[in-house]
Amino acid sequence: MISFVVPVYNEEDSLNLFNERLTRVLHSIDTSYEIIYVDDGSYDNSLNIIKNFANDSKVKFISFSRNFGKESAMLAGLKFSKGDLVCVMDADLQHPPELIPQMLSEIDDNTDVVATIRINRNSTSKFYNFGAKKFYKIMNRTGKGVKLTPGVQDFRIMKRQVVESILSLNEKRRFSKGIFNWVGYNTKYIEIKDYKRLRGKTKWKFMDSFRYGIDGIISFSTAPLDLAIFLGTILSAIGFFYALYIAIKTLVLGKDVPGFATIVCLLLIIGGVNLIFLGIIGSYIGRIYEEVKNRPSYIIKEKSEDLFKDN
Ligand code: UDP
Ligand code: MG
Repeated sequence: MISFVVPVYNEEDSLNLFNERLTRVLHSIDTSYEIIYVDDGSYDNSLNIIKNFANDSKVKFISFSRNFGKESAMLAGLKFSKGDLVCVMDADLQHPPELIPQMLSEIDDNTDVVATIRINRNSTSKFYNFGAKKFYKIMNRTGKGVKLTPGVQDFRIMKRQVVESILSLNEKRRFSKGIFNWVGYNTKYIEIKDYKRLRGKTKWKFMDSFRYGIDGIISFSTAPLDLAIFLGTILSAIGFFYALYIAIKTLVLGKDVPGFATIVCLLLIIGGVNLIFLGIIGSYIGRIYEEVKNRPSYIIKEKSEDLFKDN
C-alpha cells in the first residue's frame, strides 16, 4: 500500500482538481492506497471539501486547531500514514500526480527514496534565485550530515523504513528538507520542471524564505557560533598589533595627537560585531528554549475516525 500525505492550507480552489487527478492516476496503476489530507487550520472551505472526499474510505483527513505550518502538517501526515511507501506532495498541483507512476517505477531494492528536483526555476525572481544558490552553498559547507541538492523538493516517495527514521527525530522545530537528507538512505533524484501553481496563491513571502534559510542553517550546524571565535580572534590580533604600532610610534617619534575618529570607529565596529554574535547566540538559545518547553508540533482538532497511530 502507498500513503499520500497532502498538507493543505486554504486550497479550496485547487483541491477538487487535485483529488480528481490523483485518484485518476491511482486507479490507472492498480495499487492500494490511502490519501491523508492534513488541513493546517485553513479558514476557507478546504476542510469541508476534504471531508466530502472522505466519503471514499481510502481518503482520510486530519484537521489542526489552527495554522501550525507545513512542516507540522507533513509530520502529522507521516505519523498517521500506514503505507509501505509514503508519498508527500503539495495540494496546489505544483507536484503533478501524473509523475507518480514514473516515480514509483524508480523504487527498487537499491532505491529507498525517489525525490524530485525542480529545474529551470523561472517562477521566482533573479534576486531570490541568487539567495537560494547562496543558501545551498552555506548549508552544504556548514551543515553536519546534510548535503542538499539545489532545487530539491518535498515531493518524494519513501519506503516505510525511511519514514520511521524521519519520525524518530524528535526535534519540534523541523527543517524537513534537511531531515529528509540527514537520515540518509539511497535516494534517486528525478528532475522535473518548475510547474506553476494552478490556482490560489503561495503562502510564502520573501522574508519567510529568508527565515526558512536561516532556520535550515541553524538547525544543522553550529558554524555561526564558531564564526564568533574566528572573528573575535582576528579583531583581537588586529588590536594587539595596532597597540604595538602605537607604542613604538610614541617611543620613536614622540607623542602623537590622539585620534578620536579611530576610537569611535573601533567602538562601532567592535560593538556591532558583539551585538551580531549576541544575536546569533540568542537564536540558538531561543531554539533550546523552544525544544525544552517540549510543546507539541500541532494540535489535532478533528480527524477521520479510522485514523489511528500505532506509535
Ligand atoms: N501549506 C500548509 N501550511 C502552511 C502553508 C502551506 O500546509 O502554513 C501547504 C499548502 O497548502 C501547499 C503546500 O503546503 O499544499 C505548499 O505551500 P505553497 O504552495 O504555499 O508553497 P510553495 O509551493 O510556494 O513553496
Ligand atoms: Mg506551491
